[in-house]
Amino acid sequence: MTGRSGPARPPELISEEAIRDRVDELAARISHDYRERLVDGGDLLLVGVLRGAFIFLSDLSRRLTVPCAVDFIAVSSYEDGATAGEVRLVLDVRATLRDRHVLVVEDIVDTGWTLDYLLRTFRAREPASLAACALVRKPGRAEVDVPVDYLGFDIPDAWVVGYGLDYADRHRTLPYIGSVEPEG
Ligand code: IMP
Repeated sequence: MTGRSGPARPPELISEEAIRDRVDELAARISHDYRERLVDGGDLLLVGVLRGAFIFLSDLSRRLTVPCAVDFIAVSSYEDGATAGEVRLVLDVRATLRDRHVLVVEDIVDTGWTLDYLLRTFRAREPASLAACALVRKPGRAEVDVPVDYLGFDIPDAWVVGYGLDYADRHRTLPYIGSVEPEG
């Protein structure tokens, strides 16, 4: 199957098992933190940031033990020609955020501009509470100080792929997180 298997598999940075364990821990913490807030019969609205967060959101949401709803947003990314700090909403949530408990689920926090933009945008819609969960963060690349309430892993400054993350739309479905050398 070499002809169809594509490029060599990227070297592993975070194993499938480590991701599974961490997602379990995050889900337990989130469930614990929201259990008391949701006593009035409400649910937790998970807002996944497309496209990179789709696998993380799918695994995380199925391990939560509190009632939750799922929605998605999409923002412009580097590949669309945006420069850091200039974030654009490409697809908005369908849900009304007002008076809801909202948890933004991000794949990766790099410079922090995307998450900063999303939190500012959502805060203006007056949710009951607003928090952020990210699978990975690159502290060495931070340009804006943005709070991540639930974090999977801090990683070194490398381009990472797998578990939903891509490089030029490749490697998203790798079960682990690996690193690649971007060309150019
Ligand atoms: P920001 O710089 O924190 O605004 O991140 C912008 C977006 O760049 C992220 O949501 C990802 O879509 C993408 N990104 C940044 N670093 C990586 C990476 O290492 N792998 C895959 N996507 C990345």
